[in-house]
Amino acid sequence: MSVQAVAIIGLGLLGGSTGLAVQQYLPDVTTTGWDTDPATRARAAERGLVGTVFDSAAEAVAGADLVILCVPVGAMSAAAAAIAPGLQSGVVVSDVGSSKQTVAKALAEALPGIAVIPAHPVAGTERSGPDAGFAALFQQRWCIITPPEGADPAQVQTLSAFWEALGAKVEVMDPQHHDMVLAVTSHLPHLIAYTIVGTADDLEGVTQGEVIKYSAGGFRDFTRIAASDPTMWRDVFLSNKDAVLDMLQRFTEDLTALQKAIRVGDGEKLFEHFTRTRDIRRSIIELGQDDARPDFGRSDHGSS
Ligand code: NAP
Repeated sequence: MSVQAVAIIGLGLLGGSTGLAVQQYLPDVTTTGWDTDPATRARAAERGLVGTVFDSAAEAVAGADLVILCVPVGAMSAAAAAIAPGLQSGVVVSDVGSSKQTVAKALAEALPGIAVIPAHPVAGTERSGPDAGFAALFQQRWCIITPPEGADPAQVQTLSAFWEALGAKVEVMDPQHHDMVLAVTSHLPHLIAYTIVGTADDLEGVTQGEVIKYSAGGFRDFTRIAASDPTMWRDVFLSNKDAVLDMLQRFTEDLTALQKAIRVGDGEKLFEHFTRTRDIRRSIIELGQDDARPDFGRSDHGSS
């Protein structure tokens, strides 16, 4: 079983990249798409993000055997409701949402009787919208598939093969575990970046000009993450609330321990901690998940 026709709902960074990647790496697969925003639909058609952009969700999914919802996680229910009338029998509905438990629940409720197999390609940049997508986004990135209990193994295999064809490495995971892992590897870092950049913006006594001028001291690397799409990230925090709050609690405790080490002058503790964290960075580079260049290769593309 392989995918013949894929419909992409939401034609921003993830949707656009998926459409371009399918056209590049699976040229025999038909691509259709739809987005709520007429301006995005027009731009998507202009850029050729998918073969055909339709004016209604039902038309876009009518001939598809795989539908991928590429909308903010808070919009998954609405997108599922919009496609429901057009789905053909035997279709698999998947998504790319950054949190999995709430999305799985929303999709199962909105699409009773339809095979829903959620997924999350752990690949992205801080850009959004129909101009942001590019075909190589998923190369060498992980795509985590979180099938519900009782999912058809053949359909899970078809979805895995689809993402592998687009360049991703696939891992199948329990949705709850996914949400915990991503809370620490993605959601917490975004929250910290949003906080630091906000703190610098609110400072009295240090001008905004100085913050920008001396940003190479570390600040600028946080600003890349803090420039990420506000709608997407609002939805991620609200939908993965429990795991994020748990990680935030642990982070706060660790921060307090470092605060104490600084206050009491415990250089050994600080040194030991920073040595351990440096090793994590080295492992990430060794596993090909980032670039050793000083700009992290961000002048090409990033990932989140
Ligand atoms: P994006 O560039 O903003 O694209 C989302 C698109 O979906 C927008 O064009 C949006 O239109 C449209 N949309 C919103 N509600 C819709 C609906 N009900 N039906 C159809 N279209 C709708 O965002 P993105 O970065 O591609 O993110 C999409 C999904 O991918 C999110 O679930 C996110 O969690 C996940 N993801 C993102 C990244 C990343 O780094 N960005 C990485 C992995 C996964 P409007 O702008 O008009 O609302």
